[in-house]
Amino acid sequence: MGKVYLIGAGPGDPELLTVKAARLLQRATIVLHDSLVSREVLQLIPREAEIIDVGKRCGQKLLTQDEINQLLIFHANRSPQSRSGRSLDRSTDASVNPQPHHQPTTHAEVIRLKGGDPVVFGRAGEEIEALRRANVPFEIVPGITAALGAAAAAGISLTDRRAASQIVITTYSRGSDAAPADPFAVTPQLNWAAISSSTTLVLYMPGADYSEVARRLREAGQPDDLPCVIVSNATNSQQQIRWTNVASLAGEAKLPAPALLIVGRVATQQVEEIAATHWRPEPSERQSKHPTIS
Ligand code: SAH
Repeated sequence: MGKVYLIGAGPGDPELLTVKAARLLQRATIVLHDSLVSREVLQLIPREAEIIDVGKRCGQKLLTQDEINQLLIFHANRSPQSRSGRSLDRSTDASVNPQPHHQPTTHAEVIRLKGGDPVVFGRAGEEIEALRRANVPFEIVPGITAALGAAAAAGISLTDRRAASQIVITTYSRGSDAAPADPFAVTPQLNWAAISSSTTLVLYMPGADYSEVARRLREAGQPDDLPCVIVSNATNSQQQIRWTNVASLAGEAKLPAPALLIVGRVATQQVEEIAATHWRPEPSERQSKHPTIS
């Protein structure tokens, strides 16, 4: 039986892959990837490898999650252990012949390649569970999640101690309010009111336009001048960054997907200034700083 590697492809720039991910990709014989994985990263895969796009296109899923789980198990079971002791590095192993895509082949390593990190909004949980149930060995190779790629691209310190004490990585999409037939189809609702003034919010999949997000932030009491940064295609050649705030967010034209929002006082070029004027310690923080003796 082969081993399944759930690998994080990072936000796009192939230089941001881990050494381990790059090594596994360069000797891959089969890769099942999401549509988020950049072309540059896919180019690292040997040309003769079988490459299966299991991602979404224009909102249309190519394969259901269940079908993807089954594919992983299927390919792992087609992988005799006998090959696992051999080097599959094509630069040194001339005996590995190129296989046309349609021909049955065996794989000691099945690569499941996901954008960013596999365990951050990557549906890795369902795949891990299916692999465990089928007794297929697997390993997770972390990647740089989009939040970190975007923060780096925008030059933002997500936990700048002058303005933030926590990061909330979450998602919002219009479907979130619907009562879906599949209870796992959407992520449970974010408690917007729980976003404190010292939180940096990173919002994945911000939806078709930003007005809904802006409305939620306002309703939750976030000030109009709270900085928001929209980062599209972070670390890719098509990267775009737009600096705005809660008041102007609703009117911002949509940037191309994939994009995310960084919301919080850290998302400004003048952290020192904004921290001085806006920092409101939470009641618990106030308590710990000035304990009352009764
Ligand atoms: N597992 C991925 C997230 C998948 S959810 C990760 O760890 O990054 C898909 C969402 O991730 C997109 O809708 C977008 O909000 C965000 N995203 C992924 N890649 C991105 C990129 N290069 N730039 C900006 N946002 C990105």
